[in-house]
Amino acid sequence: MEKAVNKESDRMQDIISLCKRRGFIFPSSEIYGGLNAVFDYGPLGVEFKNNVKRAWWDTLTRMRDDVVGLDAGILMARRVWQASGHEEVFTDPLVDCTNCKSRFRADHVAEMSGDPDVCPNCGMRGTLTEPRKFNLMFKTYMGPVEEDAGLVYLRPETAQGIYVNFQNVQQSMRKRLPFGIAQIGKAFRNEISPGNFIFRTREFEQMEMQFFIDPTSEERWFEYWREQRWNWYLGLGMKAEHLRWHPHGPDELAHYARAAMDIEYEFPIGWKEIEGIHDRTDYDLKRHAEYSGKDLSYYDDAEKKSYIPFIIETSVGADRSTLAFLCDAYDEEEVSDGTRVVLHLHKRLAPVKVAVMPLSKKEPLVELAHKVHDEVRPLGLTQYDETGGSIGKRYRRQDEIGTPYCGTVDFESLEDQQVTIRERDSMAQRRVPIAELRATLAADLLG
Ligand code: ATP
Repeated sequence: MEKAVNKESDRMQDIISLCKRRGFIFPSSEIYGGLNAVFDYGPLGVEFKNNVKRAWWDTLTRMRDDVVGLDAGILMARRVWQASGHEEVFTDPLVDCTNCKSRFRADHVAEMSGDPDVCPNCGMRGTLTEPRKFNLMFKTYMGPVEEDAGLVYLRPETAQGIYVNFQNVQQSMRKRLPFGIAQIGKAFRNEISPGNFIFRTREFEQMEMQFFIDPTSEERWFEYWREQRWNWYLGLGMKAEHLRWHPHGPDELAHYARAAMDIEYEFPIGWKEIEGIHDRTDYDLKRHAEYSGKDLSYYDDAEKKSYIPFIIETSVGADRSTLAFLCDAYDEEEVSDGTRVVLHLHKRLAPVKVAVMPLSKKEPLVELAHKVHDEVRPLGLTQYDETGGSIGKRYRRQDEIGTPYCGTVDFESLEDQQVTIRERDSMAQRRVPIAELRATLAADLLG
């Protein structure tokens, strides 16, 4: 059993080290020793995460008529967080170890040490203090003086920016209910026990969609959005056996929710939440109406009635889902000349779409290879690789970053104006005329 656990955590280490080695993700401020629980995305990581965000955005906004986009500020009026309840209740229970001075989230201790009375760091029993409430919002000050009147929070979720803009969006876009507002943006939480790489960080990105509905259609839309969100992961190649539902019991439900279901992913570190689908009732708009003094009710022309809309929310971490896609894609395969590390990423998510490589560094091969590279540039991020090493080694490097197609320019290409296209997953090779290359690969990348 222990061996299996070790193997799994080794797998996480393998993924973390690939991310560092191949320019996906670096620890923040690394040359100064790092900043706990903040990470920087390197050249391939930013492209990969952007692809995840783009896939979410396109599915929710561009491919539908009933969801529109928004990009609200990170800083908002303090009253927003009073109305939402965050100032009062966005807390985690914090315990201190009186022996080693470590701090933990009380509800994480049992999972970490195997016993709620044992410190996960030093292993001492009975040294943990009683839990006390710790608010997770980061504070800062607006203006030159650090005084209470200027206190603002870095938003701990993007959702509130949507609620306070409900009327602006509804009226300016002449939207009728039901309709949704989608937003992608940074959120900040002063997590007590962050960790597991980009799974739980203090600065992260959320992709949230709030769907405004007639209160009588609450259950139907909750079920509808559950199905939509589940299928989104499958459509991007995630393995169904790595996903499961976790319904929130009455003791888990947040103060605003009537029903909540998490989508959990089986990471190498175990089953963990990646997304929540929440039935928030009319809690949010009612509270903002109360705190702002503005009437946020909606008049339904068709039904000839006025009501405060109910909200079904889908909320997923961009970083956490990026990590899930990464873990799902990572594989070590035995091939004829050893083990190949490969990311079987969905083509839409792969950071580099095509890599072009000349068989040798000699002219006129190089010139033709550059021409071929320019041909495929419009397909997305591409790479040109004439570094030393056999073609086989260069293919392996592309496998490791999940590049779906490699195009090799060889001496025959000079004669027949064709290149060898090698496919990542099957490793199959075929010849494609340069004149047809862009159209062929564009179709393959979509397929
Ligand atoms: P958890 O129980 O893991 O703390 P949560 O239930 O508080 O998460 P929500 O407030 O529902 O999470 O946030 C929605 C999504 O935002 C989560 O499913 C997760 O993907 C992401 N998320 C939340 N907190 C973090 C964090 N500290 N780091 C990275 N992603 C996060």
